[in-house]
Amino acid sequence: MKTTVIAVDGFASTGKSTLSKHLADALGFTYIDTGYMYRAVTYFALKNAFINEQGIEEDAFKKALHKTSFSWSKDKSSKTMFFNGSSYGDELRTLEVSSWVSKVAGLGFVRDHLVYQQRILSQLGSVVMDGRDIGTVVFPDADFKFFLIADAEVRAKRRYDELRAKGEEVVLEDILKNVIDRDHQDSTRLISPLKKAEDALEIDTTNFSIETVLDHMFSVINPKA
Ligand code: C5P
Repeated sequence: MKTTVIAVDGFASTGKSTLSKHLADALGFTYIDTGYMYRAVTYFALKNAFINEQGIEEDAFKKALHKTSFSWSKDKSSKTMFFNGSSYGDELRTLEVSSWVSKVAGLGFVRDHLVYQQRILSQLGSVVMDGRDIGTVVFPDADFKFFLIADAEVRAKRRYDELRAKGEEVVLEDILKNVIDRDHQDSTRLISPLKKAEDALEIDTTNFSIETVLDHMFSVINPKA
């Protein structure tokens, strides 16, 4: 059976997850949020004190990480991703997790483990996968590749509104700093840095609604639509 892979990469809070989710729903594909995976293992490291005042205890973290895995829920009607048998939500999107996740994502053993898991999770069928290295490393032969960018201020405001709506007491300046820090760490790390794949289509979402960007993506995937 021929399966399709759509890779959606880009900077933090450019709308990747929302757009990818919509695309996957409309096409009947599985949506895989790889940011969730990096956040889940960061949360795991924080909870188990592999991250502490001294930094990241890499050896202990690596040993524990290799015993963990991601899977799909057994419930066939919903494709919820589980990490070590549990599903996670807002606890992965706190500023604490956000401030550590790019450091964790810069570790080679973390990336190797997660890229391996991402390829296994994709064997389910056609997928829309969003992240930072999908079109460059995870699926360099993806059928369609998008690369999303947007002004940092606009991205920070979107993220701020999202967190405030969930009742989190956050300050816009802190979010902006985190967005800029993550962009910098993600695009300058040695292993699999965030960068546009040569054959990816770049879309600037600064001044466009989700609907407009989605229409554009659909017109690329299905030119006759
Ligand atoms: O997509 P999201 O903002 O939730 O991703 C959180 C972090 O996970 C990113 O800032 C990046 O450090 C890391 N990440 C990554 N590679 C991916 C997906 C996410 O390095 N494919």
